[in-house]
Amino acid sequence: MASAKNDSNAKAMKVKKAEEIQLMLEANQIVAEALTLLEKVVEPGITTWDLDKIAEDLCLKRKAVPAFKGYRGFPASLCVSINEEVVHGIPSKKRKLKKGDIISVDFGVKYKGYYGDSAVTIAAGKVDNDKIKLMDVTKESLERAILQVQIGNRIADISRAVQTYVEDHGFSVVRQFVGHGIGASLHEGPEIPNFVQDETSPRIIEGLVLAIEPMVNMGTYRVKVLRDGWTVITTDKQPSAHFEHTVAATLDGPLVLSSRKGF
Ligand code: MG
Ligand code: MG
Repeated sequence: MASAKNDSNAKAMKVKKAEEIQLMLEANQIVAEALTLLEKVVEPGITTWDLDKIAEDLCLKRKAVPAFKGYRGFPASLCVSINEEVVHGIPSKKRKLKKGDIISVDFGVKYKGYYGDSAVTIAAGKVDNDKIKLMDVTKESLERAILQVQIGNRIADISRAVQTYVEDHGFSVVRQFVGHGIGASLHEGPEIPNFVQDETSPRIIEGLVLAIEPMVNMGTYRVKVLRDGWTVITTDKQPSAHFEHTVAATLDGPLVLSSRKGF
């Protein structure tokens, strides 16, 4: 789940000890398992409600708590955002995936006191080449951002890696929502924008754990929130993609806690 930019409830940065990072790895690996399962079941005809149920069932089976359910009133365990929906789409029994849709699924759990948070965009059946390019560029921008999680770098180095790669490919980055620190709270400091706004952003220090989440639009970067209070869509109704990993800053470089086979 993404953070709203300049959220007044945003918390301070908290560094984690090695034991805490180990617990966060366990939490994030439950999220990773759920996303891998969702990748297998996404196909035209399945409802977004079904996807929510699959993620929630896996979470409960692993004795974890769905982190988004009830978070500021969010009504489900999984955020499911289709095509022009950017993030925070609400699952529905009435919403069936169609061939050619791209579906961003964002999942979070709480396990042994710590949060995991990760997202992936998946194609339903065969999709247009421009949507495939959008997904590939978003995923690659996240990989490039992760490489910037080096002690001594700044948060702006992460932001710049995303923005440069995305804009070089003719797409835009969302401004209104950002990545975030994560730990014993779902959203901690620092904010991690996907665009450079301040070269003097916080330094990355050992034990910082970051949920990095490029939200990339095919057209304008502008977005708005629907009347349901959650679903974020692009104002020009062009498609959007979203990938997210939770990453720890260690002396050996970035440690991707939510890593999955192949990603
Ligand atoms: Mg998320
Ligand atoms: Mg997040």
